[in-house]
Amino acid sequence: MTLAQSAHKKAKALRPGARRPAKELCSECGLCDTYYIHYVKEACAFLNQQFPELETQTHGRDRDLDEPLEQYFGVHHDMMAARKLEPIEGAQWTGIVSSIAIAMLTQGHVEGVVCVQNTEEDRFQPKPVIATTPEEILAARVNKPTLSPNLSVLEQVEQSGMKRLLVIGVGCQIQALRAVEKELGLEKLYVLGTPCVDNVTRTGLQKFLETTSRSPETVVHYEFMQDFRVHFKHEDGSIEKVPFFGLKTNQLKDVFAPSCMSCFDYVNGLADIVVGYMGAPFGWQWITVRNERGQEMLDIVMDQLETQPVDSKGDRHAAVQQSIPAYDKGVTLPMWAAQLMGVVIERVGPKGLEYARFSIDSHFTRNYLYVKRNHPEKLEEHVPEFAKRIVGQYKLPE
Ligand code: FAD
Ligand code: SF4
Repeated sequence: MTLAQSAHKKAKALRPGARRPAKELCSECGLCDTYYIHYVKEACAFLNQQFPELETQTHGRDRDLDEPLEQYFGVHHDMMAARKLEPIEGAQWTGIVSSIAIAMLTQGHVEGVVCVQNTEEDRFQPKPVIATTPEEILAARVNKPTLSPNLSVLEQVEQSGMKRLLVIGVGCQIQALRAVEKELGLEKLYVLGTPCVDNVTRTGLQKFLETTSRSPETVVHYEFMQDFRVHFKHEDGSIEKVPFFGLKTNQLKDVFAPSCMSCFDYVNGLADIVVGYMGAPFGWQWITVRNERGQEMLDIVMDQLETQPVDSKGDRHAAVQQSIPAYDKGVTLPMWAAQLMGVVIERVGPKGLEYARFSIDSHFTRNYLYVKRNHPEKLEEHVPEFAKRIVGQYKLPE
């Protein structure tokens, strides 16, 4: 045992509900629920933004800001659209994430998988676990669209003596994980990420469902789709579509967690491989392979997938520029106008990677303004250089 390891073991996890070091910006990533809180000042994504250092540690180099694809999507050597030939029933999309995790476990590449199931009482209440069977991984499928303390199981990892681990997680969790990676006593760590944006507390989620869906209690999952509508899937299998432009932004302004309003790691830049959807055609998933561990994870499921190259069409800039004051002033269109605008934008609007850039730009400009207004003292250090360049393309209100 190294001196550093014995030092963190003396630290004490915070009790549930206690104020976290990042205060209101805490995303409840779970690190402070363990003795790894010892490293919080350096490790927390909201206290110490350190993308270039952690990218270099993880991928061997940081992102090339003069390379347009890397500036947006981070270090990578491959990107594609993909879907499972046999989709997993009940997964968020086609279940590529669960399939990779299952293959990594059953083929002996790892001994356990950190993922997040839900509690028995509430399908949206996250319950992080270290899965050691395919059934336990499958029980974690589908998004829990709430802040989830995935890293809260890290103490158990060390105690279990596991040496090869796969962690599934979103950007803020993975930033903290990378910062403490060397202290975990692992021989090999694989990280399978998803993009993440606009996450909410469990209470915030309830408000979002109640203000937006016709039947909040039967929603099984939802997604902000490339057709500029939120798709809610209900228990009976029906799909309800609500146009983005019809969202009650005035009521929803405070619904997103302050951590997510201050986040610039939408594409999960420190994962080995990232599986999302927004850079792919509708119905397909979007895979970004960042390094050789990510390639290894993709290779073992390739025979379960069909793939196609990513594409990019349209020009996002005008739509992003228009979204800035609309969000800022909390404008809500009447539903007929919102539906019409959705139809027009879907026809002529950005597609593929350009849609992904639309979503990144509109969230980064919103978040930049949020940090500037609410935490001006953090603005310079907290906003990474790639995000400053992205935001710099637009005219922002004061
Ligand atoms: P599945 O096989 O269903 O597996 C889902 C996995 O996600 C499970 O292993 C589970 O452990 C993990 N998970 C679920 N909830 C959480 C959570 N709260 N925190 C950490 N891990 C979790 N993709 C985009 O392209 N654009 C987006 O804007 C976007 N926003 C997202 C927001 C959130 C809150 C989340 C969790 C994901 C988001 N994604 C986004 C990713 C996308 O929705 C799918 O999760 C991804 O494409 C994988 O789909 P799948 O069918 O392969 O996953
Ligand atoms: Fe701790 Fe994570 Fe919250 Fe930061 S975001 S204060 S590391 S629990």
